Amino acid sequence: MSNERVYNFSAGPSMLPLPVLQRAGSEITNYGGTGMSVMEMSHRGKEYLAIFNATKEKFRKVLNIPEDYEILFLQGGATTQFAMVPLNLMSRTGKADYAITGNFSNNAYKEASKYGECNIAASSADKNHTYIPSQAELKLDPGASYFHYCANNTIYGTEWKYVPDTGDVPIVCDMSSNILSKPVDVSKYGIIYAGAQKNMAPAGVTVVIIRKDLAGHELPITPVMLNYATMIKGDSMHNTPPAYNIYILGLVLDWLIDLGGVEGMEKIKSKKSKILYDVLDESKMFKGAAEKEARSDMNVTFRTGDEELDAKFVSEATKAGFVQLKGHRLVGGMRASIYNAMPMEGVEKLADFMRRFEAENS
Ligand code: PMP
Repeated sequence: MSNERVYNFSAGPSMLPLPVLQRAGSEITNYGGTGMSVMEMSHRGKEYLAIFNATKEKFRKVLNIPEDYEILFLQGGATTQFAMVPLNLMSRTGKADYAITGNFSNNAYKEASKYGECNIAASSADKNHTYIPSQAELKLDPGASYFHYCANNTIYGTEWKYVPDTGDVPIVCDMSSNILSKPVDVSKYGIIYAGAQKNMAPAGVTVVIIRKDLAGHELPITPVMLNYATMIKGDSMHNTPPAYNIYILGLVLDWLIDLGGVEGMEKIKSKKSKILYDVLDESKMFKGAAEKEARSDMNVTFRTGDEELDAKFVSEATKAGFVQLKGHRLVGGMRASIYNAMPMEGVEKLADFMRRFEAENS
């Protein structure tokens, strides 16, 4: 094993900012003169509560979250939200609308179908999820309890460029793979949820932003740990929260704020993705997997059209210090995940490597 850090293009868990890892390292045995690690603190002690409350406050500020929304730090990953959402929201009318634009929104749909009548408002499955349906293509039911979509499709490399207009139907959005990459008008949503392991923290904390009036209508079978009202009442501490992950999230937010918050990050991520998409557009060897208008700024999917050449690319890239570039088996080819913590330099060097690889192999 080398002592050098690599450019890790993993889809998640993925890179964390180096200054965050260094700070966490420097505080790992003795946080702020307390004589203990954050990992060892009581979640109800005053030292930990200060970390927890500051993290929540920073999160509210960074995403400009209105006061009528609660921020929850939960466990179970985004996948648990696939069940928690219907358990809490389905009671309004017994039915819900789902847009299926990839693997995870399909999983969300399948899970929710256990708790009510779920309708497919749109699906991009006809073209292997290479595009995002337009507003006009959404078959929305005004009687739906909620409308669910996934803002960024991690596996396919597509991203919604608009927030659907659903009238009075609350929007529930899985933002696991693009949260904190750009400003979001939270007031357009009923619930936003995201697993941490792409843009926020190590896997283990799931952030939920919920308009408070949507809680308290859970189905009678709802387990206590999956009840938003319970979690709001206990300020995410009905039981022991993922305390250390929340602390790391706080460090990531400090780092993000130093870079200009989500407004600053939006400029950086647009620049980074353009560098790679320019390579694809100029290349005769590499082709982007997603339609241009739907391209994700977080997950860049591409292929050569020749599986052996794809494998050679991934193998040579790995040797050159660009790791985890193999695409998901549902898409094949390559995927470069360029979340917030991927430095500009990593993307520039990968672009150079791709051009060199093409020159040497054509
Ligand atoms: N939604 C999206 C968009 C994802 O990318 C992922 C994980 N890659 C999930 C949901 C599932 O998240 P988790 O593993 O945290 O349950």
